[in-house]
Amino acid sequence: MIQFKQLSFWEKVTLLENIDFLIVGSGIVGSACALELRRGNPDAKIAILERSYLPLGASTKNAGFACFGSVTELLDDLENVSEESVWNTVKLRYEGLERLLQRFSKEDLNYENCGSYDLITGEEDLAVYHPKLDYLNRQIEFITGQKNCYSFEKNVNGKFGFKSFKGGYFNRLEGAIDTGKLLLATQKDLAKNGIIVLNGIEVLQIHSDQNGVILETNYGEIRAKKAGITINGFAKKLLPKLAVEPARAQVLVTSEIKNLPVKGTFHLDKGYYYFRNVGNRILFGGGRNLDFKAENTFDLNQTNLIQNALEKLLREQIIPDTRFSIDYRWSGTMGVGTEKGPVIEKIGQNTAVGVRLGGMGVAIGSLIGERLARILND
Ligand SMILES: Cc1cc2nc3c(=O)[nH]c(=O)nc-3n(C[C@H](O)[C@H](O)[C@H](O)COP(=O)(O)OP(=O)(O)OC[C@H]3O[C@@H](n4cnc5c(N)ncnc54)[C@H](O)[C@@H]3O)c2cc1C
Repeated sequence: MIQFKQLSFWEKVTLLENIDFLIVGSGIVGSACALELRRGNPDAKIAILERSYLPLGASTKNAGFACFGSVTELLDDLENVSEESVWNTVKLRYEGLERLLQRFSKEDLNYENCGSYDLITGEEDLAVYHPKLDYLNRQIEFITGQKNCYSFEKNVNGKFGFKSFKGGYFNRLEGAIDTGKLLLATQKDLAKNGIIVLNGIEVLQIHSDQNGVILETNYGEIRAKKAGITINGFAKKLLPKLAVEPARAQVLVTSEIKNLPVKGTFHLDKGYYYFRNVGNRILFGGGRNLDFKAENTFDLNQTNLIQNALEKLLREQIIPDTRFSIDYRWSGTMGVGTEKGPVIEKIGQNTAVGVRLGGMGVAIGSLIGERLARILND
């Protein structure tokens, strides 16, 4: 491996020296942060270090739900965390989605305002959720100014060809993006704004001195005046004191299915399962709640337990009586904690972090990147 010290004068001077802002991690947050820094610093040298040849966390692995809260997820959150914190998070997600759609055109992201369904399995659950719908709608109206965000639809089985769901709560304000298109649009934006992206460089340690920040990497040392750390689920490796744990999320995509009746985005079981159509295939993910301990890992393999559970739900309830195979399987790494919500703070005079985006980074990633940029600008 060629170390930095073996590089040419040109390479060193152009790419590695006199960096004003160095961002670690090229996911949604790192990219949004670099672009916001450029807006306020037209002449600055801004670089992103990414450990892999492509981003290797969550931003290019996710399901592309542009979502801010399903009925069962919100009611579960309201049981476990304060009301204030739940609604603050929903507000952040809603505003984050608006920001994402300002940064990119709907065509750039293939954004579809398809709404989402939260599917219900137990008849008895409806008696618990129904009376709370008015309250949820009022709260969402405070945040979005939009009335009747949630409504109940009984005939989801007939409409989508499902089996044995008792109905679904429709959220008319959610939608879906094409995650691959977000990656492409981001790469174009970074190039257009003169942001240097260096792939395959892993930051191993961070120190600082009176001149700024020193990042020890697998190829040697890089210096910068300021550094923003956006490594989400991997924060613990570099900054063990941060309360961020890795959470693996497993996904599969079916073969193409002729006349697929499933269109749109769907959640199940407090958001622990999610599926959508991608053209005439189904993308299905989740099941982390089957074994939280095993999914607290940096490993990117899949497990039989979760993949079999996803396939069983597909075959028995989602596309019953349909012939299909599984064409794609993968895992991504999220960053989670006992508290839901990001960690965005200064960790040194010239260093700040924006991590722990949980399962909502498509929604909040742009805003968190921009807030991190503001901290670094101060
Ligand atoms: C399967 C899956 C489905 C999801 N579905 C959705 C969804 O539908 N809607 C939604 O809103 N959110 C969803 N999410 C969550 C969302 O994708 C994340 O919250 C978001 O992408 C986080 O972005 P990020 O930039 O903070 O982190 P990441 O995308 O994880 O980026 C961090 C980057 O840092 C790099 N890195 C790590 N350590 C180092 C190091 N030491 N040196 C250099 N580089 C390093 C990694 O390789 C990675 O590319 C999903 C996540 C997964 C995994």
